[in-house]
Amino acid sequence: AGSGKKGDISREKSAELYEKAKQYFPGGVNSPVRAFKSVHGTPLFIERGDGCFLWDADGNQFTDFCCSWGPLILGHNHPKIREKVTKTLEKGLSFGAPTALENELAELILKHNRYIEKLRFVSSGTEAVMSAIRLARGYTGRDKIIKFDGCYHGHSDSLLVKAGSGLVTFGETSSAGVPKAFADETLVIPLADREAVETAFSEFKGQIAAVIIEGIPANNGLLIQEHEYIHFLRNITKENGTLLIFDEVITGFRLGFEGAAAHYDVQPDILTYGKIIGGGMPVGAYGASAALMSHISPDGGVYQAGTLSGNPVAMAAGIAQLTELRSSGFYKNLNQKTAEFAEAIQRYAAAKNYKVNLVNVGSIFWFAFTSQTTIRTAGDIDHGSMELYKVFHRELLNRGVYLGPSGYEVGFVSAAHSKTELEKAKRAIFESLDEVF
Ligand code: PLP
Repeated sequence: AGSGKKGDISREKSAELYEKAKQYFPGGVNSPVRAFKSVHGTPLFIERGDGCFLWDADGNQFTDFCCSWGPLILGHNHPKIREKVTKTLEKGLSFGAPTALENELAELILKHNRYIEKLRFVSSGTEAVMSAIRLARGYTGRDKIIKFDGCYHGHSDSLLVKAGSGLVTFGETSSAGVPKAFADETLVIPLADREAVETAFSEFKGQIAAVIIEGIPANNGLLIQEHEYIHFLRNITKENGTLLIFDEVITGFRLGFEGAAAHYDVQPDILTYGKIIGGGMPVGAYGASAALMSHISPDGGVYQAGTLSGNPVAMAAGIAQLTELRSSGFYKNLNQKTAEFAEAIQRYAAAKNYKVNLVNVGSIFWFAFTSQTTIRTAGDIDHGSMELYKVFHRELLNRGVYLGPSGYEVGFVSAAHSKTELEKAKRAIFESLDEVF
């Protein structure tokens, strides 16, 4: 085995802060996965970030592959974003009235995105998806939606629904507080299963408003779907007068500027964005054809609003970040760097006969502790292997590498991860794998 067990990093200050936080917040956090419930030890309280690095309250330094769960495609504290945000906030933080900055960000997106003609800014991915579903229901006059087992679309009622057993199931609520009547409108089916989709459409003919799928499902491992399957979804929805919603909250501006729609060369009816679009500030968006978007208020009958929607400081961060993404070769470099990183780890694991499959698309990766080579559905995931991830996560932290605190979560590479730092991280990953197996 590599260099042998490392001592645990100090978490004294983080532990102190966590004790305090527990007095204020349920579970001591403002979003559940942050509580480190799925891995070892106290959650780390972060003090600052710069480039590909994070520093916690105890002064530990990490190479960060969580990147705030995806938004930071340029890394932390990017000078161009900082500058644009600072200049903007000097003029005031919020007006609740239109600003030129909203136009600027919209223009930057719409000029370079063939899949939407108009959009609406909101403040989170959850809001974007919730609004897209309402638009689909308002437009079609139907109530039912299809979602896939293993896809996450934020925490709105219609989408906090999980699969029961069977090919097509009426959703069961996956959270207390979601009315059963809401869950009944959501049909949950397995990914990558054409028959299940066909069964749902024949059983609920004329009742399905929308099929929603993540551009590439990346919230329950990384479940890459086949090109033909996505086109099958496009065709069957069209035939049934049902809208296809691509939730690109993770994949939008990540796989490429035009996200998963371009990756699959498919035209969905509604697309949702979050994370990268706001450069680290709270921004989401949903977009569609001009005709479809005309159904949104104030022109149309589908109501949707927001006090802080299009917030100038948030728009400024989005503009600065997306401008950088337009630079020539940006995605080619980032995706190539990530592929090399992933391949080297995969080769190492294979040579050592470790049961690891490092799944990778674009600059997204996922460590699956399994020897299975194709993982397309929630059912393909080995839940028992999450025990291995716990050990892996701790060994990585002890070697200065920060991954999301759950084995179901994907990792992200940013433009700020230099080849030198990726090389160092790779060695830490090799040593950590040696400790796991
Ligand atoms: N949709 C997808 C695909 C996501 O990954 C997420 C969040 O991780 C959301 C929606 C919800 O976005 P937010 O957390 O900004 O509300």
